[in-house]
Amino acid sequence: MKALLLIDIQNDFLPGGALAVEEGDRIIPIINEIIHYPFDLIIASKDWHPHDHMSFADNHEGKNVGDHIHLAGLDQILWPAHCVQGTIGSEFAPGWDTTQVDKVIYKGMDPLLDSYSVFYDNGHLHSTGLENYLKEKGVKEIYIAGLATDYCIKFSALDASELGFQVFVILDACRGVNLQPHDIEKACEKMRFAGAALISCRDLKNFLNV
Ligand SMILES: [Zn+2]
Repeated sequence: MKALLLIDIQNDFLPGGALAVEEGDRIIPIINEIIHYPFDLIIASKDWHPHDHMSFADNHEGKNVGDHIHLAGLDQILWPAHCVQGTIGSEFAPGWDTTQVDKVIYKGMDPLLDSYSVFYDNGHLHSTGLENYLKEKGVKEIYIAGLATDYCIKFSALDASELGFQVFVILDACRGVNLQPHDIEKACEKMRFAGAALISCRDLKNFLNV
């Protein structure tokens, strides 16, 4: 069984959004194509924060976006407020055909903990339930696309590998943040080292005989 995991393709991560990923909108036509490939399941995630989420710089007096703090004992970079539950910024990107999505996974609801991976929060304290869901369905292969390569894609791919899934990251259907130069490159190295295959849409077509 093959699952396609589409990570955080939401307005706030697109150009013009609160936490815009450069060229984030470029992946949408690609996503609209690959959702018609023969996957058994399509899962989409939503970053879904309460307004008082502690990863937002605005919720810390005297702190700026990009500053680092300790949150629940973990290093936490501070972001602009983004993907606040129920806001337009948290909605799936327009133009993306979500009719093929079988299940939506919400993450980042705990105000005291951030959650990059679609499997666990950053402290690995709570599961989103996705692991059990996929294993119950008999999924062995996970194909990942979306935003952003060096955060939510990276941590989702690392968790998926560790959980025993065979992981494929469709790199040209992802875009990254590169807060520091080479962050995307380093994320790719880490994912590869963890056993994820980094592929292109063309490779995907070949694998799936589309
Ligand atoms: Zn977030």
